[in-house]
Amino acid sequence: MDELALFGGKPVWDTSWPRWPIASENAKKLLAEVVDSGRWAISGQWTGEDTWDQRFNVRFAEYVGVRYCFTIDHGSSALLVALLALDIGPGDEVIVPSLTWVACASAVMRVGAKPIFVDIEHGSLCLSPAAIEAAISKNTKCIIVVHLYSCMADVTTIRQIADNHGVGVVEDCAQAHGAEWDGQRAGSFGDIAAFSMQQGKPLTSGEGGAILTNDEALADRLQRLRCDGRRYTSGPRQLASSDLEEVSGLQGMNLCLSEFQAALLCDRLDHLDKETELRAAHAGYLDSILASNAWLEPVVPYPNNTRRAYYHYSIRISKGIMARVPVSRIRQALAAELGANLGDRLREPYVPLPQHPLFAPNTLRALPKVSRSNERELPVANDQSQRTLLFHHSLLLADKAAMDAIAAAFKKVLDHVDRLATSQ
Ligand SMILES: *Cc1c(COP(=O)(O)O)cnc(C)c1O
Repeated sequence: MDELALFGGKPVWDTSWPRWPIASENAKKLLAEVVDSGRWAISGQWTGEDTWDQRFNVRFAEYVGVRYCFTIDHGSSALLVALLALDIGPGDEVIVPSLTWVACASAVMRVGAKPIFVDIEHGSLCLSPAAIEAAISKNTKCIIVVHLYSCMADVTTIRQIADNHGVGVVEDCAQAHGAEWDGQRAGSFGDIAAFSMQQGKPLTSGEGGAILTNDEALADRLQRLRCDGRRYTSGPRQLASSDLEEVSGLQGMNLCLSEFQAALLCDRLDHLDKETELRAAHAGYLDSILASNAWLEPVVPYPNNTRRAYYHYSIRISKGIMARVPVSRIRQALAAELGANLGDRLREPYVPLPQHPLFAPNTLRALPKVSRSNERELPVANDQSQRTLLFHHSLLLADKAAMDAIAAAFKKVLDHVDRLATSQ
């Protein structure tokens, strides 16, 4: 057998992978337009035209299928502002999946509330409705639903549980731009949806995010919370003066996106659907090859998840392999097979949040000493976080030969498990 690339053998694939993020000629033109416009921020003077922020907000609200959208500087801020808009604070509990980005828990702790971690499901890796039901208490005010990696959470059942108990739903769509559940877009199921447009995400402006809702009163709160209490003026606008109005009654922070970023988002949104389709087609092709390998388990989305949006293509290594070689070693060997241009685009999943060092007692805000489900076992999250591999979505934008190379790299590495096991 060929020697593994990890040990100096020839890599399976040594051609380049697609660059990410993608900068179109149109994006460069729009950026130059913003430079010349004299309005780089929404708090700048009115130039006679809508801001790029407003243009994106209208388009993205329509894309997701909700009434209101506001850009915001980060996905983390989107979660924070969503919780503030729902009036969540000290004494309240918020249900958070145990396998997700740290910002989900940090946002809850920043408003002074307590995150209650629940386990995930084996198929979708998203939070388990049964675990939510078991974790709800009289203090529960909200559930943060996260669509993780490439699967949507069971929004139908979770919405029902939330309604039965009178608690809010914040839908974290930081990894699910354009995903659909029974034909309805991710971001239209929560009371508020939070998106991230950070560099790695499928829709990006480098840093960025958005908050969306169908509720007029919540929309007003969201807008003021993101802009130091201000909102776009409801009256006639005047050239060379601000078209933001100051409103009393609700303090905010300045979390606005710059006009450069909003213009970039407008360009990237033009490409989102085509890229989403290509990623889904290539991911489906990979699933069809890799599923026949007894050592690999693709994730299993709900049938209602009628359109997949990929942040990462995720696949699980079987327990049999795990008993012999840790997934980190498999990852190294695979990455070596896929060439230097892969960079850090093959990763391992998040550490389950209750074990995350960021929430240890000596950090800014340690996890509050709780409680029911923080102490409860999280068997699925613990297991899955140890044997899942993640391929960044930009790799799925390569051609079909590159997908064959990923499959060939898996085969080669798994055929060499004994070699890997003895070389640790
Ligand atoms: C990326 C991400 C965030 C945070 O977004 P930033 O823009 O990086 O602040 C929140 N939740 C999830 C699930 C994410 O993937």
